[in-house]
Amino acid sequence: MSRDFMRSRVQGGPLGDILEKVEAGLRLSFEEGVRLYEAEDINAVGYLANIARERLHGNRTYYNVNSHINYSNICVLWKACKFCAFGKKEGQQDAYAYSLEEIFKMAETLGRGRTEFHMVGGLHPDLPFDYYLEMIQGIKEIHPQLHLKVFTATEIRFLADHIAKMSVEETLDHLVRSGLGSLTGGGAEIFAEPTRSKICKGKHSGEDWLEIHRIAHNKGIRSTCTMLYGHVESNEDRVDHMLRLRELQDETGGFTTFIPLAFHPENTQMDDIPPTGGMLDVRNYAVGRLLLDNIPHIKAYWIMVGQPIAQISQRFGVDDLDGTVVQEKIYHMAGAKTPHELTVNDIRRLIREAGREPVERDTLYREVTRQGDQWAVHA
Ligand code: SF4
Repeated sequence: MSRDFMRSRVQGGPLGDILEKVEAGLRLSFEEGVRLYEAEDINAVGYLANIARERLHGNRTYYNVNSHINYSNICVLWKACKFCAFGKKEGQQDAYAYSLEEIFKMAETLGRGRTEFHMVGGLHPDLPFDYYLEMIQGIKEIHPQLHLKVFTATEIRFLADHIAKMSVEETLDHLVRSGLGSLTGGGAEIFAEPTRSKICKGKHSGEDWLEIHRIAHNKGIRSTCTMLYGHVESNEDRVDHMLRLRELQDETGGFTTFIPLAFHPENTQMDDIPPTGGMLDVRNYAVGRLLLDNIPHIKAYWIMVGQPIAQISQRFGVDDLDGTVVQEKIYHMAGAKTPHELTVNDIRRLIREAGREPVERDTLYREVTRQGDQWAVHA
């Protein structure tokens, strides 16, 4: 289908007024966001998102060479977060907490040639604050060049209140002094009440999640942001979630990327809900790109949606496919059938086959050049 044909089809259809706004670079409203979710013509929604995507990034799709370390899955909220297959009660089968020695050994091998470690874990009731500080510091000593994207806002709230017993500001200061580079975007789930309470009653509120990112951004700490979809949320909840992220971004500019996270029901307390389908996956990316006009990047997390959707998503607003990812546990414990790792060649092929140009980036989206394990960034 040629672009001219698609344009006249969208122009003459129910999203014609939104096309005018997108082409003029105007901000979309709550009602328009809901209409994009309700629109029958998914190709029209993709066409609109592609305009915004190509305006920002042309033909480029970014990826990074990273590894994950999930240091522990023991979590005091194991029962509260009904959508989570990762968090376990202490002593339960499959519960684990790596010692610092184990983490350093893992980091030594996994970090070679990588630009980033993505590290999150459960809310462990007993590990002391020094464990976290030494973990970060020790990894930085092994790989000084590597960026540590560490902890969700939920972990920061827990560390501050129950482990370090200090304010969020002071907790972050200690972590940054040890080597924390940025925060991950997990824990956002869905902000809207009462939906949030239906899936994770007892977890901190959406307002608190936003406040922790606000504090981090005001300290110069960048972060990503997420939205968990495909459970019991409504279209209105999704749009509300995105607009709250947009509002904070207007204030701080600290988010690098929006990552819609597909709910994986296997091994969770919500396993009666079917897994998300590709149509919902690509629609979320597209609506995200259209509503979040101030967040530079939209990421398809291939681990979660699989390689075919990750490819197609590049025509639905996505400009980032995340990374090579080694040792992912969170989605594989919830039944993800994707591999644990893609090679650089695999990712570049996924991007090229979608007609896009692959660009390696670091955590802050600076372009990376590399020769084997040796790499450098360009500001
Ligand atoms: S989502 Fe996070 S906080 Fe909730 S149970 Fe899982 S690991 Fe714990």
